[in-house]
Amino acid sequence: MSLQPAASIPAEGGCRCGRLRLRVTGKPLFTAACHCRGCQKMSASAFSLTSCYAAGQFEIVTGEPVIGGLHGATRHYFCPHCLSWAFTRPEGMEEIVNLRTMMLDDPPRAPPFLETFTSEALPWAKTGATHSFEAFPPMERFQALLAEFAQDRPAI
Ligand SMILES: [Zn+2]
Ligand SMILES: [Zn+2]
Repeated sequence: MSLQPAASIPAEGGCRCGRLRLRVTGKPLFTAACHCRGCQKMSASAFSLTSCYAAGQFEIVTGEPVIGGLHGATRHYFCPHCLSWAFTRPEGMEEIVNLRTMMLDDPPRAPPFLETFTSEALPWAKTGATHSFEAFPPMERFQALLAEFAQDRPAI
């Protein structure tokens, strides 16, 4: 399969109304779709799309995002005006930011690399992901998955 490169780096993105603008200055560590019920509700769709970046390669250009979702230890950030779900800082993983892929002005054309929580997926919801997991990938597989993504998608 040919995986077309999408956004050049640095890449910018923003929310529905444009008040919140974001920039990434590196390649994603991986991309994913999540079929869990929480993502279904927050994205108002069958699954959410994530592009995971090193936290140091993610910046807010304009706007002041607000916390939404469950307001728990995992912080979900939204535009304060249009309320688009823009990015997430997961609990205990300060070194990464999960940007919602569709915030990018030029989102990647390739299907997500991983899909998670297929156990909660709608039966018709297919993503074309390379790797599928019933819940999260086992931690012991993560390093190998990151290495595979970096090798397969040099230009995403
Ligand atoms: Zn907005
Ligand atoms: Zn989810």
